[in-house]
Amino acid sequence: MDSIRFVDECTVFVRGGAGGNGSVSFRREAHVPRGGPDGGDGGRGGHVIVVADANVSSLLDVHRSPHLRGGNGGHGAGMARTGATGQDRIVAVPVGTIVKSPDTARVLADLTVAGQQYVAAAGGRGGRGNLAFTNRHRRVPTFAERGEKTGDTPLRLELKLIADVGLIGFPSAGKSSLVSRLSSATPRIAAWPFTTLTPHLGVMRGGNRPTGEPIDVVLADVPGLIEGASQGKGLGLQFLRHVERCHVLLHVLDGAPFEPERDPIRDLDVLRHELAQHDPSMLERPQLIVVNKVDVPDGRAMAELARDELVGRGEEVLEVSAVTGEGLDTLRYRLGELVAAQRDDAAAAAAATAAAVAQADGVAATPDDAGRSDRRGTAAEVVIELAPRGDDFSITHDGEVYVVSGKRIERWVQMLPVEEPQAMRYLQGRLRRAGVERALVAAGARTGDDVDIAGVLFTFDPELADLPADERAAILAAEAEDARREAGDTWRALNVPAATTPDERDDE
Ligand code: GDP
Ligand code: MG
Repeated sequence: MDSIRFVDECTVFVRGGAGGNGSVSFRREAHVPRGGPDGGDGGRGGHVIVVADANVSSLLDVHRSPHLRGGNGGHGAGMARTGATGQDRIVAVPVGTIVKSPDTARVLADLTVAGQQYVAAAGGRGGRGNLAFTNRHRRVPTFAERGEKTGDTPLRLELKLIADVGLIGFPSAGKSSLVSRLSSATPRIAAWPFTTLTPHLGVMRGGNRPTGEPIDVVLADVPGLIEGASQGKGLGLQFLRHVERCHVLLHVLDGAPFEPERDPIRDLDVLRHELAQHDPSMLERPQLIVVNKVDVPDGRAMAELARDELVGRGEEVLEVSAVTGEGLDTLRYRLGELVAAQRDDAAAAAAATAAAVAQADGVAATPDDAGRSDRRGTAAEVVIELAPRGDDFSITHDGEVYVVSGKRIERWVQMLPVEEPQAMRYLQGRLRRAGVERALVAAGARTGDDVDIAGVLFTFDPELADLPADERAAILAAEAEDARREAGDTWRALNVPAATTPDERDDE
């Protein structure tokens, strides 16, 4: 049997639900021999949404079932009925979870606050029914779009522990003893068998705010530090990754070390050196120093020496004993003050960021297929980086065949029944408007050459010249109409707070 352990990294496979197919349908009326088109749109597939949940303390659940899928959208039907939207899959993860792309290690989302959510996979678009393709020049559309197909995307989830106070110090300085002694409650994670990778957590009450609101503080005794941690020795990098997230650092110095050559001040300097090597900004956080084991006579003498020197350097030092409890109340309240101040700063910074994001909204755009959002954005939705808008498609010449790649273009081909001549003409107009024909000509393609888009082979025929004049005019008029309707090439990223709800239909 697998032993349960603290899972702090895992890979998941996310896939939005497939979009429902659009419908081809015509009205049936008693006295009308052939009514107008009335095929409704397919519903969009469900998203996969990762949500930071304060009641979840590990990635264990997603580690056990890593395939996460949104529900499929329903198909459209006659009488302009739209298919049902697929069910969203909500995935609860601990606060402190980071979502990364596994290949580039790019951070996609950093869920640091409960309730923040990230749309990890968008549901496929519903196909448009034939009603949507009706215009003055195409009165009887005989085709509809299929729903967008979706595929699995691997994502890396990493949990960075979020503790308010990280206790750091050499082995046997008394970190675990202090956490146990200070803690009034122990989160679930501590009930799991202790492994070297598991920080030992505790929760304590660090006094109250002037309003009477209690200050609960999460303490983490982070094991694994050895000299050379910043070079990756031992469990070093794991250790540092956990410490990175602690807002306040509590240095625990050993007042009564076993090795006679060790002294607390040298220990402190070594520790700080490791932190600075890893990330100099870690030393800018509030730090407090305790000299532990003052119940031992040697410890008391050592503590007094150390205190004088450290205070001379401008450090804040407390003397404590995890065994007798001496100095622990002072320590508890001082940590409460530091943490409360730090939380106030963080809340102010978050408010400022939310305001900045709201300002920047409308500028952010991405050609990534997270094309549209029908969910109103809130400040709780975050994404760290957006890919800059680049070329929409690219053309490669593979032997005899020109291959057009690009998510948007490939999606059109996948969604349209290209065996249907009317749909094919519609697609051709769309490709022309997107500049694909021009780009193919520029790449050297000539009439009669083979063109591969999304695995479908086309014969390149950019000219309408061989068609009868009236047919050509009708096609161009229908295209012009489509172009007007599909204008406004606005690409919206999911996860970007939306000032307005974009129209699902008009963002091509
Ligand atoms: P850690 O490795 O930093 O987590 O250290 P531990 O909490 O496991 O403590 C290491 C040893 O020091 C244990 O044998 C503890 O009983 C002992 N110890 C911890 N704190 C005190 C203290 O305040 N006074 C004395 N005398 N011993 C302590
Ligand atoms: Mg320990």
